[in-house]
Amino acid sequence: MIIRNGFIALPGEDKLIKKSIIVKDGKIVEFCDSPAFAENIIEAEGLYVLPGVIDAHVHFNTPGFELREDFYHGSCFAASGGVTTVIDMPCTSLPPVTSLANLKHKLSIVKKQSVVDYAFYGGVNGYDLENFRSNMRELAPYVAGFKCYLNSGMESFGSVSYEELEEILKMSGELGLPILLHAEDKAFIDEAEARERKKGAGAANYYRSRPALAEIIAVRKAVKLAQKTGGDLHIVHISTSDGALSARRNGASVETCPHYLAFSLVDFGRQGSVLKVAPCIKLGKREKLWKLVTDDVIGFVTSDHAASRREDKETGSIWTDYGGIAGSGLLLPYMYSEGYVKKRIGLRKLVELVCEKPAERYGLADRKGKIAVGMDADFVIIDPSAELKVHGADFLSKGKMTPFEDKVFKGKIMKTILRGEIIYDAEKGILASAGSGEFLGDSGKNGGNNELSD
Ligand SMILES: [Zn+2]
Repeated sequence: MIIRNGFIALPGEDKLIKKSIIVKDGKIVEFCDSPAFAENIIEAEGLYVLPGVIDAHVHFNTPGFELREDFYHGSCFAASGGVTTVIDMPCTSLPPVTSLANLKHKLSIVKKQSVVDYAFYGGVNGYDLENFRSNMRELAPYVAGFKCYLNSGMESFGSVSYEELEEILKMSGELGLPILLHAEDKAFIDEAEARERKKGAGAANYYRSRPALAEIIAVRKAVKLAQKTGGDLHIVHISTSDGALSARRNGASVETCPHYLAFSLVDFGRQGSVLKVAPCIKLGKREKLWKLVTDDVIGFVTSDHAASRREDKETGSIWTDYGGIAGSGLLLPYMYSEGYVKKRIGLRKLVELVCEKPAERYGLADRKGKIAVGMDADFVIIDPSAELKVHGADFLSKGKMTPFEDKVFKGKIMKTILRGEIIYDAEKGILASAGSGEFLGDSGKNGGNNELSD
């Protein structure tokens, strides 16, 4: 395959460079200026070619919560947004990925569904801590990290205390894997929520039950524990600039999501539960957060894709409405349009935020995240002169509600290519078959013995 004459985002470059890319057996083999004849040419004249996006935080719910989302629909939506690799969270499947047996069960189902490459996180469930150390040891060769919550809203996956987090962070040092933390202080939220529930059931009540301070307290305590134990801490979906700064200054890494960069409390008040997420959307912090994204404080951006049905979002009370946004397919369109086109970030930064940095953080950088010889031929081709008008009804996800409804993003994703195969085309839709995505947790680290795939 040759991708001909596109403007390519090469590693470390802040300008697009016009080149053709020669692909063989799913890998990038060469760059050239004037390609010879080939059977399979993808014309990219006038188009931008970026590395395939890595969405390092999705909840695709398989198996267990597939009424809201499943791996097939989630991965199709991701592919439509230029994503070629996802890393799925352990907490929103049943059983959760807290043991090797549970991971094998999940893999046996997911491998028949995914159209993009994928890895998993293991999890530490606060309701089931009995054998967490041996479970973590068993899972470690096959997962990208371990997720836990200081404040979980899920019935099937419980929070851990600070004392328990300390023990989990000790394991992180032993296993050489990051601990991904949902950082909101449970005691603070329990008290504030009890008070607010008596006052009402609107967006403002929900906000006051988990304001900025709930996140900042949790981050400050967690980074201290990471320093004490030498554990490798990553704070997921940061929503406050103070939280991000505190984490980064103390050696933890941080990610945020488009909804925290795009929306403020005013939008939450107007849109209601469509914008309900945890942590809550905050008061007027958007440009501050953008600055931290630009300044390397926030290392990368993920979607935290968590789709739901309309009825889950419309229960009549903010307290029982589902919290989460179907976002994987909009991660790149948002960051490209509102970041790169609007000049908040340069090209190099864009590629770092959604491709390179997540690949590096989670041990995928030998294959993913860069357009370079020897890497997987994963690309997204963008037409910079076209636009995307967001319509939730058109999402390939099971979730059709979005806070970005009717927003117009500059740039349009024309093709998504995974290991040299077109998996999504703007005209033709999804071209990949279910199950063509590859599990990335059972190759490199384990000498490619594929023992999980038996
Ligand atoms: Zn999440």
